[in-house]
Amino acid sequence: MLKELVEQSKLRRVKAALEAHRIPAVIVKDQKELYDYLRTVIKKEMLVCRGGSVTLDELGLVDHFDEIPLINHNLAHLSTVEKEACRRKGLDADVYLMSSSAITMQGEIYNMDGTGNRLAALLYGPKQVYIIAGKNKIVEDLEQAKTRMKEISAVQNCKRLQTNTPCVKTGVCMDCKSSGRICCDEVIIHWQMRADRIHVILIDQDLGY
Ligand code: SF4
Repeated sequence: MLKELVEQSKLRRVKAALEAHRIPAVIVKDQKELYDYLRTVIKKEMLVCRGGSVTLDELGLVDHFDEIPLINHNLAHLSTVEKEACRRKGLDADVYLMSSSAITMQGEIYNMDGTGNRLAALLYGPKQVYIIAGKNKIVEDLEQAKTRMKEISAVQNCKRLQTNTPCVKTGVCMDCKSSGRICCDEVIIHWQMRADRIHVILIDQDLGY
């Protein structure tokens, strides 16, 4: 019970920190509350795309949300050409769904990518971006965000994708120079100029890497 109260307080403090940086944030309990919230912002005429994300997969946001198709370049049946077309569509989406490598208690959003399509969409293009993140993504500061990325997110994703990188075998980041390296581009959202573009949905659960 005490642990739950501490974690809820932490979620509220992160929400306040994000909003102090002009990034609207909501807290939801679970998938049902998330879907109820998304139904208020996603309409069927919208082009809705998503970035690569284990969090979204775990929440069932794979190829459809209700009856609305989700453009997802990670679907297994897509060819290389089709995957690239999906990534490009994402840059002009009405709504872009993604997760985050880490969100700091100071209200910053930290992400690292291999291809960079998700980071490009985060920075500019889609009219609205919704970052959906479990409470396990919350860290104290940017230093911890970078550590979390290297020690947890990147290594777990390399294992999942079976990249040709040493961390798949060793289980720790070797700061490799491999052609399969996925730790390529880094984006930190410190502040939002247009206060209604990027939104954060914090979920009171552990999700993804
Ligand atoms: S830098 Fe290389 S070894 Fe380190 S996590 Fe990224 S891909 Fe793995």
